[in-house]
Amino acid sequence: MNAQAAPAPRTAETTLDVAALRAQFPILSTQVDGRPLVYLDSAASTQQPQAVIAAVSDYHRAAHANIHRGNYRLSQHATRLYEHARAAVARFLNAAEPAECVFTRSTTEAINLVAATWGRANLGPGDEILLSNLEHHSNIVPWQMLAEQTGARIRVIPIDDAGDIDLDAYRRLLSPRTRLVGVNQVSNALGTVNPVREIIELAHAHGALVLVDGAQWVAHGRTDVRALDADFYAFSGHKLYGPTGIGVLYAKRALLETMPPYQGGGDMIEQVSFEATRYAAPPTRFEAGTPNISGAVGLGAAIDWIESVGFERISAHEQWLLRHATERLEAIPGLALKGRARRRSCVASWVMEAPAISSLDLGTALDLRGICVRTGHHCCQPLMDRLGVAATVRASFGVYNTLEEIDTLADALIEIADETR
Ligand code: PLP
Repeated sequence: MNAQAAPAPRTAETTLDVAALRAQFPILSTQVDGRPLVYLDSAASTQQPQAVIAAVSDYHRAAHANIHRGNYRLSQHATRLYEHARAAVARFLNAAEPAECVFTRSTTEAINLVAATWGRANLGPGDEILLSNLEHHSNIVPWQMLAEQTGARIRVIPIDDAGDIDLDAYRRLLSPRTRLVGVNQVSNALGTVNPVREIIELAHAHGALVLVDGAQWVAHGRTDVRALDADFYAFSGHKLYGPTGIGVLYAKRALLETMPPYQGGGDMIEQVSFEATRYAAPPTRFEAGTPNISGAVGLGAAIDWIESVGFERISAHEQWLLRHATERLEAIPGLALKGRARRRSCVASWVMEAPAISSLDLGTALDLRGICVRTGHHCCQPLMDRLGVAATVRASFGVYNTLEEIDTLADALIEIADETR
């Protein structure tokens, strides 16, 4: 039996034809030890539809050459594909122009870029960086490194027990010393959807800039960096049904123009001599060396694909899954769900308290049943400390998941708990 032969997904409350959509993902019809793969780890990496796989493989088969350098047609074609992907990213984010979108390796690299360039050029002793208690390590550690180098100080925006940012505490933390606020739009560990528009407005009223970590948002709702008035916005292709190794830093043009380069090398220059180098204009200034051309092409294809599905339908489907998952999981005796934020994206995080089963053991037992979930601290150790746990088990859903898969997860958890008693 494979996933496609499984009973047709119930679609009463979703307008998506989930079976047809799943058929576009080759990996979803594979098996683990003779059972259908149940992939519930899309917050770590989404799977890739055939349209993305084909775009990347077509590029390798028929369009590959180094970009921006060759004056032969194949290179010019590859350059066009790369820049076409940048234009797709700009449209997707509603950036004012493609030049505001820098290709990076990932969200992590995008944040490191801002810390290393804007941060080093602009921060000094006494300046403050506000980070929420929900942040992924990639939106903490680069700022700590910067703070060590510049004498700036990190202050933490607290959260309440439900996993929502404490906006009153945030207002109190803001001051003329605040230079940057770093916040995710969605927490990868709890699914909290943060009120980033309000957070940005408050920061701007104090003259501070805001970096939004959009890694967990972009696949789930429309992104509009201009409506948000975000100064910096970062995301990764592999959480948006695209390839790994490609990410994006959006920054307002006026900021990018004042920022020194991140890395030096080929492509990012206007003119080089041993005496002095003149740098290229953004975004090229921040893309030293040969970039991930096929990754950009794949990301462009992923954007086309997700836009063809449509965020209204995606969001309705995923919220429907989340409601069902919440109902099923909270009905399991001894299972403690973590995170009850006012607005949540499709993430469920829990600890099995009675019988006590470590998240690692639970993850292994689920894997033996073909169910892929994430276990551990989710690169959010400060958040785990706040929650008073070392780790959780996290199931995260994508547009291709079904109610039946959630039932498979919940039934497996009941079975594992019974076996442990
Ligand atoms: N920020 C959040 C909220 C994430 O969930 C992740 C990855 O899980 C990252 C940043 C880092 O993304 P990447 O590993 O693609 O750089």
